[in-house]
Amino acid sequence: MIDFELEPQVVNRLKTYHMAAEQLMRPISREYDEREHERPWQFFETMWSASAMADVQADTTNGKKESGGATGPEGDGKAEGQAARARMRNLNTVLTTEELCWGDAGLFLSTPNSGLGGAAVMAAGSPEQKERFLERFRGGKPKWGAMAITEPGCGSDSAAVTTTATHDGDHWVINGTKIFCTAGQMAAEKSEGFVVVWATVDKSAGRAGIKPFVVEHNTPGMTVTRVESKLGIRASDTAMIVFDNCRIPYDHLLGSPEVRREGGFKDVMATFDATRPIVAAMAIGVGRAALDFVRGFLTEQKVQIRYGLSPRRLTALERDFMEMEMQLQAARLLTWRAAWMMDVGQRNSLEASMAKAKAGLAVTLITQKAVELLGPLGYSRQLLLEKWMRDAKINDIFEGTQQINMLIVARRILGYGSKELN
Ligand SMILES: Cc1cc2nc3c(=O)[nH]c(=O)nc-3n(C[C@H](O)[C@H](O)[C@H](O)COP(=O)(O)OP(=O)(O)OC[C@H]3O[C@@H](n4cnc5c(N)ncnc54)[C@H](O)[C@@H]3O)c2cc1C
Repeated sequence: MIDFELEPQVVNRLKTYHMAAEQLMRPISREYDEREHERPWQFFETMWSASAMADVQADTTNGKKESGGATGPEGDGKAEGQAARARMRNLNTVLTTEELCWGDAGLFLSTPNSGLGGAAVMAAGSPEQKERFLERFRGGKPKWGAMAITEPGCGSDSAAVTTTATHDGDHWVINGTKIFCTAGQMAAEKSEGFVVVWATVDKSAGRAGIKPFVVEHNTPGMTVTRVESKLGIRASDTAMIVFDNCRIPYDHLLGSPEVRREGGFKDVMATFDATRPIVAAMAIGVGRAALDFVRGFLTEQKVQIRYGLSPRRLTALERDFMEMEMQLQAARLLTWRAAWMMDVGQRNSLEASMAKAKAGLAVTLITQKAVELLGPLGYSRQLLLEKWMRDAKINDIFEGTQQINMLIVARRILGYGSKELN
C-alpha cells in the first residue's frame, strides 16, 4: 500500500528544521553569498550543537545511534522517534534536506556534516569502517566530510579516474589531482574531517580497479591548491586538491581491495544511489523557496490563483504558477520514492537518477519563472529570488549532470549497457 502520510514525530522535527532555516539561514543568506570565501563559523557552531542535541547526525551518518536509541524503554517517546527515523533514514534525510535548502542551499552544503564523504563510507565501507570513520561526527568540534571523484580530465565519466593508489607495505600512496570538491577545504584542512578519494589500484583493470579511500584531514601530501569562485551556492567551498605521494593506512580503502571485473565498480557507484535523491531534495528546497515567495507576493498583490478552472479560462500567470507547483510536486514524489526504496532495501539506481534529473530541471524552470514573474524586482538583489536562480543550476550539474542522469534512465529502461548507449 502506498502511504504519503508523514509520522507525527517526523512532522514535528521538520517544523524545527523549518525554524532553523528561517531564523538561522535566511538572515545570513545574502551576506555569505556576497562574502563567498568567508565562513560563517558562528552558524556552523550553532548548527553543530543543535544537530548533536536533536540527533540530526544520525540521519546523515550512521544508523547505529538510532537503533541504539530505539532499544529504550517501551513507551519512551524519544526512543519511538529514533526508531521511526532509523526505519526511514533516507526518506528523513531528503525531507530535512528540502527544509534546510528552503533556507539556503549554499549554507546547507557548508554545514558541518559527514556529507558526501559520509555517504561514500556508508555505501562502500565495512561495518567496522562505518563505525571508525563516522563516530567523530557525533561530537566535539564541527567537522566535514567530502568526496573527491572529479579530475581535470574526468567528470561525467567517473570510470576515467586517473588518480592512482599504489600499495606499499601497510600503506597506499595516492597521486593525482581532484577538482570541484564540495566542502573539500573544510574537510581536508579546517576540521578533523576526511576526504573520500576515488583512485585506481590497477589501471589495466579499467573501471574495476577504481576504489574509494579515506584520506584524513591534514595528511601530508594532500594540499588544497584552489577554492573556486562560483555562480551560486557561494557559501559552500569547492576545492581543488592535489595528492602528491600522499600515504594513508592500508585499511583506509573502503570495502574490499580485491579487483572484481564483474560488479566491482557497480558497488562503488552505489554511492550515487544514496546521494542523488539528496541533491534532488536540495533542488526541491530551493524551488519551494521561490514558489513560496511568489505565492506570498501574489497574495499581497491580491492576485488569486483560480484552481479548478478549465485551462482556456486561466490567465498566463495562473498557468505558469500551476506549472511551477506541478513540476515541484512531481520532482518531490520521485525523490521520496527513490529514498524510500533505499530504506526498504530495494536497488534504486533508476529512480535516483529519475529524481535527480527531474528535480534539476524543475528547479531551473521554477526559479527562472519566479524571477520572470516578478520582473525587475525578481532580477534585483533586494530579494533572494535572483540568488535562488543562481543556486538552482548546480543541481543540474553535480552528482551527474542532467544529460548523464537521463542517459542512465534510458539505459535502465531500455536494458542497454554503457557501451551500447553513451
Ligand atoms: C559547485 C560544484 C561542486 C561539485 N562538487 C563535487 C564533489 O563534491 N565531488 C566531485 O567529485 N565532483 C564535484 N563536482 C563536479 C561535478 O560532479 C562535475 O562537474 C560533473 O559531474 C560534470 O563533469 P565535468 O565537469 O567533467 O563535465 P563534462 O563531463 O565535461 O560535461 C560537460 C557537458 O557535456 C555533457 N556530457 C558529458 N558526457 C555526455 C554524454 N555521454 N552524453 C551527453 N552529454 C554529455 C554534460 O552533461 C555537460 O553538459 C562539483 C562541481 C561543481 C560545479
